[in-house]
Amino acid sequence: MRKKLVVGNWKMHGNRAANAALLGALKEAGPWTAEVAVCVPFPYLTETALALTGQQVLLGAQDCSSHEQGAYTGEVSSAMLSDLGCRFVIVGHSERRAYHHESDQLVADKAKAALAHGVTPIVCVGETLAEREAGQTEVVVKRQLAAVIHTLTHCIGEIVLAYEPVWAIGTGLTATPEQAQAVHAVLRKQLQAASQKADAMRILYGGSVKADNAAQLFAQPDIDGGLIGGASLKAADFAAICRAAM
Ligand code: PEP
Repeated sequence: MRKKLVVGNWKMHGNRAANAALLGALKEAGPWTAEVAVCVPFPYLTETALALTGQQVLLGAQDCSSHEQGAYTGEVSSAMLSDLGCRFVIVGHSERRAYHHESDQLVADKAKAALAHGVTPIVCVGETLAEREAGQTEVVVKRQLAAVIHTLTHCIGEIVLAYEPVWAIGTGLTATPEQAQAVHAVLRKQLQAASQKADAMRILYGGSVKADNAAQLFAQPDIDGGLIGGASLKAADFAAICRAAM
């Protein structure tokens, strides 16, 4: 039985006062039986770690460097994330693939760097609308995951995978539970061919998950929770999604 995981991705939102209010409200709203985490912008990691002390909600970051350390201005290493208490780091989010031209191999290298420091990478895969309409969904997500499998080899079982159709992120369009499950099943099969741990691995769905569609999505056999963007910025909405995963 896989424990459901709900992860908030704050993206580039927030400020110290708003974050404190959000984290305070989340504290009041818990506990949940699902595992819950928030991936916050780098500057707020330390303060968020303090605010989460003794709480159920786990800390995560939104990206990491593929490098260990060195002259890489502006980058943040996974060793630093580990040092700050991060349990998770999102890698390969479609916004980074699109706006920062991150390749499948770079995403895989970031996942490897994270694992080397005990930080669980949440590896995002997903197709664009054009790719879906061209019937390329499976080809795209399998190609993205294959790079990670090839790079991590026997460690692939340690990652969390997130299927995030690009056309559903921040658009209000959600994949139907059936559409999402179909892709999750494809990804599970690919993982099964690569790892004995595949059946214990969590595959999250992300893309306009809201309080009113979360339960149906999370009820699908291969959907093990969610990666939540916009709705993670409102404590009541995020808490309701966490409840839907219970
Ligand atoms: C995301 O940022 O990963 C995401 C899924 O965003 P949203 O929930 O806003 O679509």
